[in-house]
Amino acid sequence: MGPKLQCSMLKLSLFMPLYPHDKSGPLPNAISVDVEDYFHTEAMSKAVSRTDWDKMPGRVQRNTERLFELFAAKKVRGTFFFLGWVAERYPGLVRQARELGHEIACHSYWHRPIYTLSAAEFREDLHRAKAVIEDAAGIKIKGYRAPSFSMTQGTEWAAEILAETGFTYDSSIHPVAHDLYDNRNAPRHPFRVAGTSLVEIPISTVRMGSRNFPFAGGGYFRLLPYAYVHWAIRKFNRVEKRPIVFYLHPWEIDPEQPRLPAGQKSRLRQYTGLGKTMRNLGRLLEEFSFAPICNVFFEEAAVLPRADGIAQD
Ligand SMILES: [Zn+2]
Repeated sequence: MGPKLQCSMLKLSLFMPLYPHDKSGPLPNAISVDVEDYFHTEAMSKAVSRTDWDKMPGRVQRNTERLFELFAAKKVRGTFFFLGWVAERYPGLVRQARELGHEIACHSYWHRPIYTLSAAEFREDLHRAKAVIEDAAGIKIKGYRAPSFSMTQGTEWAAEILAETGFTYDSSIHPVAHDLYDNRNAPRHPFRVAGTSLVEIPISTVRMGSRNFPFAGGGYFRLLPYAYVHWAIRKFNRVEKRPIVFYLHPWEIDPEQPRLPAGQKSRLRQYTGLGKTMRNLGRLLEEFSFAPICNVFFEEAAVLPRADGIAQD
């Protein structure tokens, strides 16, 4: 796989009119996977402490490989944000993602929300994660996603550290109200973070009245009817004339994952809808066109064909 597919030469096309795309084929949206295991989530952070992670039976390899298989069957490539902890223990999984043509990116090392860290702690975690992921992938990485979309008001300093560490973009803002990250007033579309070279690529929302509504992945994709997600993507593509940014996790396609002792809200957040995610994801990849974040937002020709139309150099 050539460097072109890894977007090593990121060319900013954010401010070019990405849509309407009326030439041929469906619109390319961006799809991303935060590669972490079922016991890494914020919902389960009290059930399994970080010092016990190594004792847990791992399921991330098989679940991520199932996603690789589905993506390959649908001829879709995406962005895989690896947790550094996972990349260190499963370097073959990172290599496999790269060999399949996916974009490799970073999801921190220890999965701690930014707002719980000092700048020094964030920098240390970031450097450690970047090193192990790049070691496994054999390439430089450009993209970062914070655990629990924790790039919130008051953590703006993190953008500067990301830029100085060599990251080109961050995709850590989900502009909705949430108990872990209240970002309802954050920008809904990609923007350059003031005073830095970093570009922020928010998770997509639909705007109704004066409120943003989530639809583009994670628990929302499991909880909401598929028809609503389908409607929201079409509205975003057609009305806003932009690609959506979608996200999911390997553990979300795994209804057999061990049930951990956690509070009611955490269990609801983690275990609802697991059984239908794979089926709905297959449908989503069939009905819409997807590509990695770096291709959708940074390639010179922002509108790309599906994976089978891209030259393998
Ligand atoms: Zn995560």
